[in-house]
Amino acid sequence: MATRRRAVQEEERTSDGKVEAQAALSRLGSWLEERGLKHSRQRDVIVETFYGMGGHVPVDGLVARVRSLDARVSVATVYRTMKLLAECGIAVPRRFDDGQTRYEPATGRAHHDHLICTGCGRIVEFENEKIEELQKRVARSHGFDVESHKLELYGRCDRCRSGEAGSREARS
Ligand SMILES: [Zn+2]
Ligand SMILES: [Zn+2]
Repeated sequence: MATRRRAVQEEERTSDGKVEAQAALSRLGSWLEERGLKHSRQRDVIVETFYGMGGHVPVDGLVARVRSLDARVSVATVYRTMKLLAECGIAVPRRFDDGQTRYEPATGRAHHDHLICTGCGRIVEFENEKIEELQKRVARSHGFDVESHKLELYGRCDRCRSGEAGSREARS
């Protein structure tokens, strides 16, 4: 399951994440310094692995990958580090209907919403100005000023709907 999701995400990526990881590490570095917190090599490994995986990374998948690289890194350290990254604005936590906590890289990324396949778990990002505007208008008509929003559309993706994808995925 996790591998399949990762494979899908890989297609949607434009780079191997090394450049982004470096940018994130230097941002994290100065953020930690401002707060008088110490640098840690384990944290670097987690950040590099996270960016290397790309897409919307489930925390347990990240834990497994990090620990396969360095077994000394504890589960708690991975969770703590990801919370830290979210605090510092490098990663955004996501919680879709399956209840798993995922993180996606946030540096240099615009707001977007998500389509989630209930068949294979594929996650597709989209942006639509009209929807954005419409949401603000609806909120305003109810006297709200929108600060943020999350829009998640659930359904079956083209691959799952074609059936042929389902049998291929079942074998992998
Ligand atoms: Zn699907
Ligand atoms: Zn996303």
